[in-house]
Amino acid sequence: MFADRLDRTRSLMAEQGVDVLMLSVGADLPYFCGYEAMPLERLTMLVVPRDGAATLVVPRMEAARVVERPEVFAMRPWDETEDPTDIVAGLAGSAAVAAVGDHMWSRFLVELMGAMPDASWRRGSDVTAPIRSVKTADEIERLRAAGAAVDRIAGRLQRGEIELVGRTEAEVSAELGRQIVAEGHDRVNFAIVAAGANAASPHHEAGRHVITGGEVVLCDFGGTMVGDDGVGYCSDITRCVYTAEPPAEFRELYDVLFEAQAAGVAAATVGTPAQDVDRAARSVIASAGYGEYFIHRTGHGIGTEEHEDPYIVEGNREPLAAGNAFSVEPGIYVPGRWGARLEDIVVASPDGPDPLNRVDHRLAVVT
Ligand code: ZN
Ligand code: ZN
Ligand code: ZN
Repeated sequence: MFADRLDRTRSLMAEQGVDVLMLSVGADLPYFCGYEAMPLERLTMLVVPRDGAATLVVPRMEAARVVERPEVFAMRPWDETEDPTDIVAGLAGSAAVAAVGDHMWSRFLVELMGAMPDASWRRGSDVTAPIRSVKTADEIERLRAAGAAVDRIAGRLQRGEIELVGRTEAEVSAELGRQIVAEGHDRVNFAIVAAGANAASPHHEAGRHVITGGEVVLCDFGGTMVGDDGVGYCSDITRCVYTAEPPAEFRELYDVLFEAQAAGVAAATVGTPAQDVDRAARSVIASAGYGEYFIHRTGHGIGTEEHEDPYIVEGNREPLAAGNAFSVEPGIYVPGRWGARLEDIVVASPDGPDPLNRVDHRLAVVT
């Protein structure tokens, strides 16, 4: 699997004139070799020459963490007194065009630029995103398992089995985090809990606000499930509940959101330009008069990273491919009052849109 992924990347490198690909911290590295770099100051880097064998440059003290895969990459542990930048530059040889992972830290890149003064630099995603964004059947099943896990948590939320009233947003967020892990994830990526007027801020940081009866509570949460091969896949879901019978005005807003999200999912068919999914959801919200309150794109790709290609946004004319996995998550945010978002992960499949989140999409009333 890893060797095949690297082969396909090398074909893209050849097409695009990239001589060497370098991957460090972030999701590219585990995707291509099953090892995730520790996000620390010592350099870990997979060096992939277009026409040569890949080498993982790793601090000697961390080498024992690596599951060795000699058929995929050679190991080059470095000692504390060696200069890892020189080692990487040596492996890159006379590369004229180097692509570096999008999440590589500038401290590594700046040093590499010094050690390879004649190279020109490209984003790694130019040659990794087209591969990562098309999921295999196995990857889709892993995303589906992660989706089913957060569905179970959302179901408990909707049935009132997660206590809300009287607790702070931060306490509920911590509880969601515990459940994300209990349901089989290896890490929690985020657990947004936004109540009342805070729900008008799409990326609200769960805080000290004590949830009361008669508020909307927006919960957007997800984590990463890491497989035996060291590669993790993410979940991401948003559901809203109301802590009393909601006012008619909020019901109206939510009905529009519900319809918009369903329209976005229905539009997510193979061959449809990504921006048309955004348009399908947005037009429902706009024609109901809430257009100015939908202040973000409709969705993002998901896989080993919680946000990746393809982005479901106006201007992305790229047609959806079979195997693309992405969120459909329109929202309506009325500043100072309230807000709502409804999010599922959807796979564009040859048989049509395949939503990985199936838990109830209606507004749940919990008292
Ligand atoms: Zn988000
Ligand atoms: Zn989300
Ligand atoms: Zn999302």
